[in-house]
Amino acid sequence: MPVTIKDIKTILTQPAGSRLIIVKIITSDDGLYGLGCATFTQRFEAVVTAIEEHLKPFLIGWDVDRIEEIWQMSSVNSYWRNGPVLNNAISGVDQALWDIKGKRAGMPVYQLLGGKCREGADTYAHASGRDKHEVVDSVRRHMESGYRHIRIQMGGYGGQSDTIQKPEGAPDGAYYHPREYVRRMTEMIEHVRTEIGPEVELLHDIHERLRPIDAIQMAKDVEPFKLFFLEDALAPEDIAWFNNIREQCATPLAMGELFNHPLEWRPLIEGRLIDFIRMHVSQMGGITPARNVAAFANMYSVRTAWHGPGDTSPVGHAANLHLDLWAPNFGIQEWCRFNELCYEIFPGLPEVRNGYMYPNEQPGLGIDINEELAAKYPCTNPVIEWTQTRSPDGSPMRP
Ligand code: MG
Repeated sequence: MPVTIKDIKTILTQPAGSRLIIVKIITSDDGLYGLGCATFTQRFEAVVTAIEEHLKPFLIGWDVDRIEEIWQMSSVNSYWRNGPVLNNAISGVDQALWDIKGKRAGMPVYQLLGGKCREGADTYAHASGRDKHEVVDSVRRHMESGYRHIRIQMGGYGGQSDTIQKPEGAPDGAYYHPREYVRRMTEMIEHVRTEIGPEVELLHDIHERLRPIDAIQMAKDVEPFKLFFLEDALAPEDIAWFNNIREQCATPLAMGELFNHPLEWRPLIEGRLIDFIRMHVSQMGGITPARNVAAFANMYSVRTAWHGPGDTSPVGHAANLHLDLWAPNFGIQEWCRFNELCYEIFPGLPEVRNGYMYPNEQPGLGIDINEELAAKYPCTNPVIEWTQTRSPDGSPMRP
């Protein structure tokens, strides 16, 4: 008798800033269940509906061992596919099925992928400040905690500006000045490198805030400061411009957190136009497609750097870790330093010591959820302001 999907539950919680969506698959085998991350924090109710009203009726009764078939059929059952809502919903199911398969095998998920290439995943954390001196202080604190790779940002995404002159009647919004951003960030990166020295690896995230020609200029300008990578230099809509950056400098490039369609990552890998793929694993549909893309990227010597801020749930971070431990082309893992409450709600949440993230060697993903405690932190649903991005004259910009 195969073990089958008996029920699918969607659990919402917001113990820190992000609204988290966890899928729990309950099986026909008493007490056996799995957890998966389906977190699309800005549109969480849409994902819940996709799971509860569409995937659940479709998947009840399926053999839990048929992960690949379930992924393939779930992605085409709606006919229209490759969007963020459905990909996240499918990821919740996919990760939970890998968790279940690991529990059934008595093995951590990295063993099912092929076993470890390393004992821990090297991580990077986020340093920031209002000015370049505060950024240096923040970098030093991270170095004292053992991090060898540190992302440096100043004044939030897009930076801060006191020189913006808006037109009369300009609406409210998250204003920033793209070209001033290039000047100020380049100066900040130079300052940090000069103060800190050559040893520590520095990263910076443009967050697709620039027009392509300004991104090319910035990638060239920061080349002497030897970044570990420059992230999201371009918006997904502008990826053809990566050719132009590549022609002009050797600044390492990372891209992919917004990707949800294979035609977004395939040409960048085949063309050797980026150095790190950093998709949000739930956004691309879970462990199954991430494993495939990691293996594909390995053939082109492109490394992994899966997206890992607070809007990847603790369950999602556990999934990232198993991919990291296995992938021969692992590059780096972004890490957001969850608070103590998250460790209480999610027993088994991976720990980071001296910059390395370690597994706990439990079967499956090695993470659980305290549903009673999670329910004490319900999700808020405000209109999101930071994505109402505008350039100085009020034109809508990508966030
Ligand atoms: Mg990013």
